[in-house]
Amino acid sequence: MARKIGSRYTVHQVIGRGSAGTVWLGEGPDGPVAVKLLREDLAGDQVLVGRFIQERAALTSLDHPRVVGVRDMVVDGDDLALVMELVHGTDLRSRLEREGVLAPQAAASVIADVADGLAAAHAAGIVHRDVKPENVMLDLAAPPGPGGAPRAKLTDFGIARLVDAPRRTRATRIIGTPDYLAPEIIEGLEPRAAVDIYALATVLYELLAGFTPFGGGHTGAVLRRHVTESVPPVPGLPDGLWRIISECLAKAPASRLRATELADRLREQLPALAGLPPLALPAQRAQPAEEPATLAEAVYAEADTGSGTHRRRRGPVVPLVPPAAPDAARDTRDTHTSLRRPSAEELAGYAAQSRAQRTVPASAHRGGRRALVRRRRMLAVLLAVVLLLAGAAAAYTAFAADGHPHAAGARASAVAPAWPPDEDLGRS
Ligand code: ADP
Ligand code: MG
Repeated sequence: MARKIGSRYTVHQVIGRGSAGTVWLGEGPDGPVAVKLLREDLAGDQVLVGRFIQERAALTSLDHPRVVGVRDMVVDGDDLALVMELVHGTDLRSRLEREGVLAPQAAASVIADVADGLAAAHAAGIVHRDVKPENVMLDLAAPPGPGGAPRAKLTDFGIARLVDAPRRTRATRIIGTPDYLAPEIIEGLEPRAAVDIYALATVLYELLAGFTPFGGGHTGAVLRRHVTESVPPVPGLPDGLWRIISECLAKAPASRLRATELADRLREQLPALAGLPPLALPAQRAQPAEEPATLAEAVYAEADTGSGTHRRRRGPVVPLVPPAAPDAARDTRDTHTSLRRPSAEELAGYAAQSRAQRTVPASAHRGGRRALVRRRRMLAVLLAVVLLLAGAAAAYTAFAADGHPHAAGARASAVAPAWPPDEDLGRS
């Protein structure tokens, strides 16, 4: 089924679906292209359309071999389309789900490619803001890089902001995907190039370990970890890569490497990484693509009981695979393009709450039980003392009245003083 997009493009068949729209294989004046038709609700948004036109120059001018080029941006009736360079390959998320973690050299090579693409964008003043495996395309038609690694290209520049910002202009909105969000974004600072470096280092960690350093569980918990927690070490990770990851996941944006430095540092590591197998972390044993939620749960559960280095909370997980329906996809990891930024109090609340969950209940329970036992003991002693005193008083009263030492008589006289003693009966 062919469909015309603007005056110059024709699309033939769907080659992919994403949160922002459907990607079609198409044909333009210069040959085959990929056309991303934005969702109808987005295309109908006049503010977005204005922004779309406004961003056209910046996005179409970014021309670099490690960036999926935007050739054109078309507004045609109800259609809003991004015409892109056609990449023959797959995205990095699909690759990760199908084949599991990458060997260290391949991971470093893929990330160095993406860092090259980012360097070009940053030099042009463009911040991506949504770097994640879904937005890295592996070009399987190009000759492979070091160690047979496929060449990578970064895609979806500016899309997160384009799709998100017009309808949600409040300052408390965050654009990005929770697992890859730099702490300064969560704290409300203006996103600069360093946010892309943080996200890219998170992707590198994920390619090697099979899970992201701060992901898992409730979105609020993920955001808090970005701000407060240190990066969980990955057992068996080559030192050189660990140092690079740590530097790029620094909480302070200024401490992170620049994109060109990151690419250089990774390429320096390549010879030493040659031949190293993928890391054998528990995460890799559970790879059923059809059960993404359980996969992540298994990862964190295993990490909990495993080497002890990856302590993660169990609980509901953020699904790894985007569902087909765009609305359902809104809550998945790869499509969280808009989140309300929690206030400082809320963030502090999360921290206090998880601290409380970890520590308070056990001790509070122990303390509570001890107090209960103490109270019961005191009551028993008090009761015994009262009974003893009552008994002693009754015995004394009876004895003093008739000089009879019998307890029964004493008790009787205490309650029925009118009852005549034996002697009186005999006398009358
Ligand atoms: P979104 O960002 O809106 O979620 P994506 O950009 O991830 O959507 O596109 C969805 C799918 O379409 C991708 O996973 C990929 O398979 C395919 N795709 C996207 N861009 C291209 C391209 N330039 N060339 C070939 N396939 C593409
Ligand atoms: Mg995308």
